[in-house]
Amino acid sequence: MNMKKFTALTLVCAMTIPMGAALVSAEDSAVAKIKEAGKVVMTTNAEFEPFEFKDGDEIVGIDKEIAEKIAEKLGVELEIMDIAFDSLIPSLNAGKADFIAAGMTATDERRKNVDFSDDYFDASQTIIVGVDSGITSREDLNGKLVGVQQGTTGDIYCTNEDGSGDITVKEVKRYPKAMDAVSDLLTGRVDAVVIDDFPAKKLVEKNPDKIKTLDEAMTEETYAIAVPLGSDLKDVINEVIKELNDSGEMDEIVSKYIS
Ligand code: GLN
Repeated sequence: MNMKKFTALTLVCAMTIPMGAALVSAEDSAVAKIKEAGKVVMTTNAEFEPFEFKDGDEIVGIDKEIAEKIAEKLGVELEIMDIAFDSLIPSLNAGKADFIAAGMTATDERRKNVDFSDDYFDASQTIIVGVDSGITSREDLNGKLVGVQQGTTGDIYCTNEDGSGDITVKEVKRYPKAMDAVSDLLTGRVDAVVIDDFPAKKLVEKNPDKIKTLDEAMTEETYAIAVPLGSDLKDVINEVIKELNDSGEMDEIVSKYIS
């Protein structure tokens, strides 16, 4: 946009749009660009069953099904990019995707870099330990070696860089995939793993005689879909979330993956 046009647009807006109202010109509209491209690009980290995981070559899961509804609402194709969890926000802000659906917890820290949709799922950080580990509560993690998935809220909480948490672990071991953290738990290389509750349950189900989840959670949190700051796609996503909730479809999707 050239400067003259920008000034003219600013003037028009200043005259007609009340302060604080959303201001998205046709040129800046993410929705308009998506419709023109005929596709909407979602990024995720497909190592997070039941929200996103691979069935053969295909990415499936709760987030993928919600994303399909978003694409349907926009009348475009859905494209999915599978990348490392801690690359999701940088890659969104580099313009490589339109939204992130990755069981992502809406935190205040992340809100500095992205806008979040309305919440669509309540979750918690769960502690996984060996069945005979002697670790029975979150306090027992003090002084322990804890495995987490890099860049997740479990990582942030256990690392406790700002000192706001109440647990001081001995060391945090970071893995690109939660499954690798659990492998190290199974072989005794870490004392516990802290990850989201449903992925934790899915991983424990695969080794029920060796590991278990504790009833007491580390933290409570909620998942939301992330878009670039100021993106008008957020309104479309919120409409879809509301429609899925109102129609009962959200429950149907979730119950396909969580019994
Ligand atoms: N909910 C956690 C977070 O947002 C983990 C998400 C994930 O690993 N996909 O940090």
